[in-house]
Amino acid sequence: MMATMGLSVLLIEDEPGDANLVRQYLKASPNLPIELTWAENLTDGIARLTHTAVDVVLLDLNLPDSQGLNTLLRLHSAAAMLPIIILTGHDDTEFAVKALDCGAQDYLVKSGIDTDSLVRAIRYAMSRVSLEKRLHESEQRMSMALQGAELGLWDWHISTGKLAFNDQWSNMLGYAPGEIEPDIASWKHLVHPDDWQSVNSALQAVLSGENEFYSAEHRVIHKQGHAVWVHATGKVLERDNQNQPIRAVGINQNISLRKESEFRDHLLISALETVQHGVVITDINAHIEWSNQAFETLSGYSRAEAIGMRPNELVKSGKQDQAFYQNLWQTILAGKTWRGEIVNRRKNGELYDEELAITPVKDQQGCIRHFVGIKQDVSARKRMQAELWELATTDGLTGFLNRRHFMARLDDELSRALRNDNHQVAVLMLDLDHFKRVNDNYGHRAGDAVLQHFADIIRADLRKIDVVGRIGGEEFAIFLPDTDTYQALAFAERLRQKLAGTPLAVDERSINVTVSIGIALMNHETSTSDTVLTQADKALYLAKESGRNRVRIWSA
Ligand code: GH3
Ligand code: MG
Ligand code: MG
Repeated sequence: MMATMGLSVLLIEDEPGDANLVRQYLKASPNLPIELTWAENLTDGIARLTHTAVDVVLLDLNLPDSQGLNTLLRLHSAAAMLPIIILTGHDDTEFAVKALDCGAQDYLVKSGIDTDSLVRAIRYAMSRVSLEKRLHESEQRMSMALQGAELGLWDWHISTGKLAFNDQWSNMLGYAPGEIEPDIASWKHLVHPDDWQSVNSALQAVLSGENEFYSAEHRVIHKQGHAVWVHATGKVLERDNQNQPIRAVGINQNISLRKESEFRDHLLISALETVQHGVVITDINAHIEWSNQAFETLSGYSRAEAIGMRPNELVKSGKQDQAFYQNLWQTILAGKTWRGEIVNRRKNGELYDEELAITPVKDQQGCIRHFVGIKQDVSARKRMQAELWELATTDGLTGFLNRRHFMARLDDELSRALRNDNHQVAVLMLDLDHFKRVNDNYGHRAGDAVLQHFADIIRADLRKIDVVGRIGGEEFAIFLPDTDTYQALAFAERLRQKLAGTPLAVDERSINVTVSIGIALMNHETSTSDTVLTQADKALYLAKESGRNRVRIWSA
C-alpha cells in the first residue's frame, strides 16, 4: 500500500553489512523519502507484513530459515500482490528468469547496486504491480460480466490451432473445466454436422477479411448428446503483415430457449394457417397483429391489408346495435370468452353470418395484452337451417303454416291471451264448399289452382299479426289477435264475398267456388287451442248445415 508521506520498504536480509549498504543507498535517494524496515529472516519478514503497510520488499533469497527460490515462493504466497525485488550475490541470468517466472518483479545483483538503480527498480516494480492489479481487476470484472450474462468466451490462435475458452463456454455444453481439449479441432467435433457448412462459410468470410464480424446461429452437441443452440459472434483481432489472421476472439451465447420458443411459435403458426377457421390476433385496442389464410378467404382481406386495422373497420355490417358491442366488450374486458353470432360484410360487400369466439390473452401479470378471435362462416348452414325450418313448418302449395306449426303458434297466442285480460283472439275455420266437385269436374291441378287462388285472397286481407294455417286438404284456420267478434265477422264476411265474387279462370273456363266459415273467440274459459278450434269447427259445421257459403259464430 502506498504510504502517504513516502515509500515503505521491507528489507529481508541476514547480512548486516549488506543491509547497511542498502540503507545507505536509499537514504541517499534525493526525491523519494523512503522508510526502511529490516527483517533478518523470512519468518520475521512475513510477520512484519501483517503489522506494517509495506509497498515493496527487497528480498535476499538465502536466509537462515529459507534458501533459494523457495524463499521467493513462500513470500509470494504470503503476499501475492506485493512487489518483490530479489537481491542476490551472484549474476545468473537463468536463475533471474526463473525468479521472475515465480512472481518476482525484478532481480538485482548486490555488487552492481547504487542509489539510482535501486530506486528505479523499486519504482518500476511498484508501477508494474499496480498495472497487474488493475489488469487483474478488469479481467475479474470481465469474467463476472460474462458469467452473469452466461456468455462463453473463446480465443482462437489460428496458426497454432489453440483455442482458449472460459468455463462458461464449456459449461454450456455440459463439460467441466479442462474436459475439452483446448484446440480448434475439438470445437469442430462439437459443432452439429448439419450446421458445419454454414458455420464454416461464415468463419471463412471473416478470416479472409470479406466480413469484419463473425456471426452464426448454430447447434453444438451437448455432452449428453442433445443439441444446444448458440449464437456465436467474433472478429479477427490480429493479422500478420501478409494480412493472414493470427488470432480471433468471440463470444457464444446459449439461445436454446429462444430457439425453442421460435420453433414452438413456428409450429403453432403453421397449425393456425391450416385450420378452416379464420383466426385474428389483435392487441388490447383491437388492432390486428396477425391473421391467417382462412380469415382472408372469409373476409376477402389479405394479411397485409388486415394488419394494423380493427376488425370493425374491415367487416362491420351495421347489422348489430350499440348494445351488442357493449356486451361483447364488457365480456372480454372482464377476462371472459365472448361467443356469439354476428353478421359481417366481406370486402366485396357481401353480408355473411359468422360464428365468433373472442378470448382475451393475459400476460404473466394478469393484464390483458391480446384478443384472439376465432371465426367461422355459418351463412350456408344458416341458409340451410332456414330452408329446413320453412320446409318443416309451411305448406308448399299455399305458403301457409302446416297444421302442426299453426297449432304451436295458436298455443303461444293462447298463453299470451291468458296473461292479458283484454287480449282477444278470434279463430276462424274455413272449408271450401263442394270442393270434391272441383276436382271431379276440372281435374286435380285445377283444384290446386283454386286452393292457391283462395290463399291469395286470404293473404291480401291479412295484417302482419294474423296467422294462417292449412289444416287439411281444403280446410284453413286463421287466428286474428286483438280482434273482437264483430271485427272477426266482418273479416270472414269479406273473405267469403270476395271468393264468391272472384271466379278463377282455368283453361278458358271459369271456376266458381265458395267457402263456409266458422268463428270462435278465445276467452278465459277456452284454455286450450284444441277447444277453440273445435268450437270454430262446430260453427263451420253450422254454416255448412244452413246451406254453405256463409259465416257462423260459435256460442255456447
Ligand atoms: P263440403 O262442402 O262438405 O266441404 O264438400 P267437399 O267436397 O268440399 O268435402 P270433402 O271433404 O268431401 O272433399 C274434400 C276434397 O278435397 C277431397 C279431396 O280430393 C280434395 N282435396 C284435398 N286436398 C287436396 C289438394 O291438395 N288438392 C286438390 N286438388 N284437391 C284436394
Ligand atoms: Mg269442403
Ligand atoms: Mg273438407
